[in-house]
Amino acid sequence: MMAKQFDVGVIGGGVIGCAVAYYLSRSGASVVLFEKNHICSGASSANQGGLAIQVFDLKTIPLALASSELYRRLSDELGYDVEYHENGSILVTRDAYQVPVLQRRYDELKRMGLDVDLWDDDQLRRFPGGDTEPFLSVIESHFDGQVNPFRATYAFAFAAKRQGVRILTHASVAQIKMVKRRIRSVVLEKGEEFVCGRVVCAAGPWSRQIGQMVGLDIPVEPQRGQIIVTEQVADSEYPYILDGDYLTTAYGIKPGGVDEAARKRHALGIGGSYAQDPAGNWTIGSSRDMAGFVRTSSPEVLKGMARRLLSFLPGMKDLNCIRFFAGFRPYCVKDGHPILGRAPDLSGFYIAAGHAGEGIALAPATGKLIAEEITLGKTSLPLEEFRYERFVASH
Ligand SMILES: Cc1cc2nc3c(=O)[nH]c(=O)nc-3n(C[C@H](O)[C@H](O)[C@H](O)COP(=O)(O)OP(=O)(O)OC[C@H]3O[C@@H](n4cnc5c(N)ncnc54)[C@H](O)[C@@H]3O)c2cc1C
Repeated sequence: MMAKQFDVGVIGGGVIGCAVAYYLSRSGASVVLFEKNHICSGASSANQGGLAIQVFDLKTIPLALASSELYRRLSDELGYDVEYHENGSILVTRDAYQVPVLQRRYDELKRMGLDVDLWDDDQLRRFPGGDTEPFLSVIESHFDGQVNPFRATYAFAFAAKRQGVRILTHASVAQIKMVKRRIRSVVLEKGEEFVCGRVVCAAGPWSRQIGQMVGLDIPVEPQRGQIIVTEQVADSEYPYILDGDYLTTAYGIKPGGVDEAARKRHALGIGGSYAQDPAGNWTIGSSRDMAGFVRTSSPEVLKGMARRLLSFLPGMKDLNCIRFFAGFRPYCVKDGHPILGRAPDLSGFYIAAGHAGEGIALAPATGKLIAEEITLGKTSLPLEEFRYERFVASH
């Protein structure tokens, strides 16, 4: 069988792979994208679409801000509404143990020059949260937002296709051939071979399997997250709401003085995140645990998340839940940060993986930077902190 030839092969049709393929094709490269299922079938279809940048690790905030910049004009650029709304977010707590954590976070964000406010007593009292005690602390971010993750992924894929990217679905990559540590071709499970001197691993939680094909350990594993979806209701006009505990369960920030109930919640990985989408459905998140590729939901976690929500917004007790789901965040087990850029000692292999709970937020910047690295050999934002080399002892 004759092999087909492309400049670059992208493995993975989630938001990251589709963004990489789009930006690559914009710069004139010939690109083929391989997706083992259908476009947007992995983590990119099982999340809250939040750009809750105020809770991100400080290291990734510049990447996230660059992404927001791109998101602002993405619907026009791609000719497809990705439903990006910059409606802000609030990071809230009623737990005394999180108050100093929020104060520290606020100071850090201010030092970065970001547009955030720490609410005063009057603002805390005025929050229309129902008949509960006022929050003890709230950080309001004016630059956070939300996007429809399905539409964002498809928008990149459709635009990439229009620009000539060959998108192959139900095309599982089984082998990557090399000649003397130089990428030569990609072979599908079905046996078809594609010659491409460059390959981008954008396989999300499955990236370790792709790394094994070239003798590279990509330390990314699936981190399960669970979400409840409610019926549609009128627009609450709330921004994206995050529980202070999110900093603990997602980012490992450990407060002092935690009570027993909180210890149990944290052990289940529950850190509240609540968003209403433009159609009126609320997504109630979220949880974190390492359960391998087991995509079932757990009643204990779902109950815990619902209970936590009602402690913030008791008025939501009468809402019907219409479904729940679980997904796999691509989580870098070494340090929780994305792995971006060319692989060391391997010519033509690039990684765009490990975006954990930030992949939707980071997708446009990731796609643009990986495309720059491949086509220009340099990037408009430094990637050094995200490179694979950070795991190499001599580095
Ligand atoms: C519950 C939950 C809530 C989240 N909330 C948010 C949020 O609010 N904001 C945010 O920014 N992020 C959020 N995330 C994280 C976000 O969903 C991910 O970071 C992002 O979707 C990762 O995209 P990806 O393209 O790397 O991976 P995926 O979307 O998983 O795509 C990888 C693709 O690679 C394909 N693939 C794998 N192996 C092969 C192979 N051998 N051959 C061909 N194809 C292959 C898979 O089929 C898959 O489609 C959340 C995640 C979860 C689970």
